[in-house]
Amino acid sequence: MQFQTKILLLSLTVSVIITACTGEKSYTPTGVSAITADGFDASLTILAGDDFLGRGPFTEGETRTVNYLTESFRNLGLEPGNGNSYFQDVPMVKITSTVPNEITLFNNENSLKLTYRKDFVAFSQWLQPEILLESSELVFAGYGIVAPEYDWDDYKGLDVNGKTVIVLVNDPGFTSENSELFKGEAMTYYGRWTYKYEEAARQGAAGVLVIHDTEPAGYPWEVVKNSWSGTGLYLKSNDENQSHCKLEGWITKSKTDEIFNLSNTDFTGYFENAGSKDFKSMPTGITLSMSILNEWHEDVSKNVIAIVPGSTNPDEYIIYSAHWDHFGIGIPDSEGDSIYNGASDNATGTAALIELAKAFTSLETQQKRTIVFLVVTAEEQGLLGSAYYAQNPIYPPEKTVANINIDALPYYGALKDLTIIGYGQSELDDYAEAAAKQQDRYIVPDQNAGKGYFFRSDHFNFAKIGIPALYASGSYDLREGGIKKMKEMNDDYEMNHYHLPADEYDPDTWNLDGIVEDTQLYFEIGLKLSNNGDWPRWKEGSEFKAIREPEM
Ligand SMILES: [Zn+2]
Repeated sequence: MQFQTKILLLSLTVSVIITACTGEKSYTPTGVSAITADGFDASLTILAGDDFLGRGPFTEGETRTVNYLTESFRNLGLEPGNGNSYFQDVPMVKITSTVPNEITLFNNENSLKLTYRKDFVAFSQWLQPEILLESSELVFAGYGIVAPEYDWDDYKGLDVNGKTVIVLVNDPGFTSENSELFKGEAMTYYGRWTYKYEEAARQGAAGVLVIHDTEPAGYPWEVVKNSWSGTGLYLKSNDENQSHCKLEGWITKSKTDEIFNLSNTDFTGYFENAGSKDFKSMPTGITLSMSILNEWHEDVSKNVIAIVPGSTNPDEYIIYSAHWDHFGIGIPDSEGDSIYNGASDNATGTAALIELAKAFTSLETQQKRTIVFLVVTAEEQGLLGSAYYAQNPIYPPEKTVANINIDALPYYGALKDLTIIGYGQSELDDYAEAAAKQQDRYIVPDQNAGKGYFFRSDHFNFAKIGIPALYASGSYDLREGGIKKMKEMNDDYEMNHYHLPADEYDPDTWNLDGIVEDTQLYFEIGLKLSNNGDWPRWKEGSEFKAIREPEM
């Protein structure tokens, strides 16, 4: 509560002086002082209120949310960010893949049966009623990684056209426990299943199966089984999603061992061998045939986009992002509440963009570069709104200086730390550190780097197209209560609020001081970047550096 009181006093002092000078003009806060707890309270009450129906994409909740956002931006004097529109349409498709309950693999006269959900899951993003895979040979492609900065290429000399690659989950650094390989324990993007699907498609494979192993995956087979069978929401691309592999899926480690035993090739020690640079991919001589039946429903959701143009460098951009969506109305909890309000996740980030818009539009001297406010849809369904923006950028990525992403701010008061997810990736760390110092705070790297949180919110889609991205908030050490109290609050949030109807805004118990302070910090970073002409870079060893600086 202390911090809030301080700001209030400061504002009053400023207001008296201004009134005295001009004699008539009433006080309007400028810049950082425009970001206030009262502002957050007003937006959170609306965004996380039951009237907004949990902000589910394609619902009345979406209409109310995107209208509220455009109205807020328009009232503040922001310009539309997409030509003369505040919207970017995001075409999506809900696909249900029906997969045979049992498939048979063949190696000449020998065969092996695989049971759906028990041994494997599979689906297809192709918008086609029937997708056929005919006698596609299985190839073991190690980790399925092509990483020039680590001089690593699992596809070297391999033609996988029409074939189905089987690849290990995570990356060689994690599984070998060798801190010199990749980033050791910390997961790189090459370790994520999404990367493995993308790389297999780039290589022209017809199918890709990721080998599940609980420890390097970070979750049990149950999670894979439940997430990948049934209906899924995807982006709809112009090629009817045919740039993806026909077949995407997972397979258990024990079934993989059986498959490799069926092969005439000797797969002894394949797991360890794949973690060495000398590893060569191995064909199995085993073929897979499968037919997948797809049913789908198309719908369009919206990203909201608004700008404050720069004064001298309007064609250079800094993008603030936050996802507006949550889960809408779903399964009721024990109290009968079925509205997933998503107050912390992510009404806080959405409200922060409104506060930041207030700060930038109230500057006495307009900032030099253009500030973009991008409020994206369908983060909860797999970062889809930001992925769509990254694939269809309105502002050229090479002219985009940085992304600052805000997702689920904690509401237990001011914090002594600033936790940077993906610490060490880019020079934005230095900006964050300087801004944190001004607030008498210290930097903490991500406490769970092995879980790959850097790849789990919208900033990651900007990183993928080379834009340096910052994802940071106080979340470790409370000014009142310290590390112990914050851990209790974080655990309570995970257990009792996260992705549940109980993620609700309560003005009586929420302490907005930390949220205000974090948002002021995002403002200071963006303001500095918007005026100093600097182009922050990815650091040495970052998997995104080569995308931004291909000549290096
Ligand atoms: Zn979430």
